[in-house]
Amino acid sequence: MRKNIVAGNWKMNTSLPEGIQLAKDVRSSIEGKNLNCEVILGVPFTHLSEVAKAVAGSPIKVAAENCASESKGAFTGEVSAEMVASTGATYVILGHSERRQYYHETSAILKKKVELALANQLKPIFCIGEVLEEREVGKHFEVVERQVKEALFDLSESDFKNIVLAYEPVWAIGTGKTATSDQAQEIHAHIRKVIADKYGKSIADNTTILYGGSANGGNAKELFSKPDVDGGLIGGASLSAEKFLPVIEGF
Ligand code: PEP
Repeated sequence: MRKNIVAGNWKMNTSLPEGIQLAKDVRSSIEGKNLNCEVILGVPFTHLSEVAKAVAGSPIKVAAENCASESKGAFTGEVSAEMVASTGATYVILGHSERRQYYHETSAILKKKVELALANQLKPIFCIGEVLEEREVGKHFEVVERQVKEALFDLSESDFKNIVLAYEPVWAIGTGKTATSDQAQEIHAHIRKVIADKYGKSIADNTTILYGGSANGGNAKELFSKPDVDGGLIGGASLSAEKFLPVIEGF
C-alpha cells in the first residue's frame, strides 16, 4: 500500500548553519519514536549535501526544491537533476505554485524536469493546485486534472510509480487558510480516479497524494484522517522542529 509522507518545504529560508541546525533538531525530535510516515526535508540547493550528512543514518530523506529543465551545459545559475542526486538528495519538489507563478514554469517545462529527475533516480514531489478564482467558479477539478495530464501522463507505468503528488490549493499556501479535510478528500479522490483511468487502479492506489496549504500541528490529524490524504507538504510549519513534529505526529 502507499506510503504516508510528511515533507517540509523550507523555501528560501535559513542560512546554511541555520539549516544544518534545523535538520539536526528535526532528527533529534523523531529519535526513538515509532513513525507512521516517511519524513522528508525540502531544502535550498546550497544546503543539500550538508543536510544529507546531518540526517544520514536516520529515517529522514532530503529533497531539492527544484531542478533544471536541461541536463547539463551552458545554463548559468541552473542546478541539474544529476547535481541534485549527487548530493545525497533522493526527492525533488517540482511544479510548486511559486515556481509556476514567479518563474513561469509551464507544463512543458515541468514535463522535462520530471523526466530528468526520474532519469537521475530522484523521486518528484509534483505539485498541482488551483488559484482562488478557479475554485470560486468550480474549475478546481479540471485545473488539477489538466496539470497532472500535461506533465505526467506521457510517463511509463514504471516511471509513474516513482511520482508523489502534492495537491496545494494556491489560495491556502502561506495564507493561514486551509482547505477543509472534506475539500481535500474530495479533490484527492478525484486525482486518484484520474490516475486510475490512465494507469489502472493498482498504481493509483499506490500513489501517495499529499495535501499542502497552511497545514500545521493543529489541523494535520484531521487532514490525514481522510482516506485519500496520504500526508502533507508543509511550508511555514516545517521551519522549526517544535512546529514540524506535531505534523509528523498527525499520523
Ligand atoms: C508550501 O509551500 O508547499 C506550503 C504548503 O506552504 P505553507 O504550509 O506555509 O502554506
